[in-house]
Amino acid sequence: MPELPEVETIARRLRKSLIGKRVVEVRLSGLPLRKPVAADFASRLRKRTIRHIRRRGKYLVLEVEPQGYWLIHLGMSGRICYDPTEHPAKHTHVVICFSDGTELHYRDHRRFGLMALHDVASLDQIRELQTLGKDPLSRGFTWKWLWLLLQKSSRELKSLLLDQHRIAGLGNIYACEALFRARLHPGRRSDSLSRQESVRLVRATRKVLREAIRHRGTSFSDFVDSDGQRGDHQQHLQVYQREGEKCRRCRSWIKRWVQGNRSTFFCPRCQA
Ligand SMILES: [Zn+2]
Repeated sequence: MPELPEVETIARRLRKSLIGKRVVEVRLSGLPLRKPVAADFASRLRKRTIRHIRRRGKYLVLEVEPQGYWLIHLGMSGRICYDPTEHPAKHTHVVICFSDGTELHYRDHRRFGLMALHDVASLDQIRELQTLGKDPLSRGFTWKWLWLLLQKSSRELKSLLLDQHRIAGLGNIYACEALFRARLHPGRRSDSLSRQESVRLVRATRKVLREAIRHRGTSFSDFVDSDGQRGDHQQHLQVYQREGEKCRRCRSWIKRWVQGNRSTFFCPRCQA
């Protein structure tokens, strides 16, 4: 499942190739994603030009002209291919053709993604983004902000980190990695964290995400960016999917623990 670093990697790639391009044709498979793609999505996106590409949490936001925002979420298995050499592969649900002859294909075999065009004047008017929590790479993600949030919750720390309405962009991989770096047990009660621990968690989260972006994301299952390139961050993971292997810091065995329906990986000694 693509998380913040993977979406950021795609946003950076697309900025290099899509800015200034005009949409000339949009083809849809007709199958619904998380929600059905609006019937008029194709006719409304046609003839618009890509002006800016941003990321909000795990959302890609393409600002188009005449004024509008094209919103994409990759869900569980969404994949964006910019100008692939082959015909649309299986599970391609959206094909966008640009005036220079290049194409963008959206593939998604599990269909949990989202594709929408919002004709609003500002990003704040888009409902999906209104309910989104703070982005860990934004300026407001400070230890104090996080500490106050933690104080209000008795939930397990890791489940709070995954709550997109509180913190936007973390998924299972980077939540596990951030907690390891901060040396915090994933099952700790959120309101039990000290100020100092909140400082550690903010630093660890930002560091893990920045490193992963530098490595162009984690390609564990099948993540590839819009140019079809795999990321490298899987080689740098400390705990995620390393059950039974030795902790790189203390040589203890990494453990897996099932919380809800998700596997949590942690070092029982470093994260006591
Ligand atoms: Zn350890």
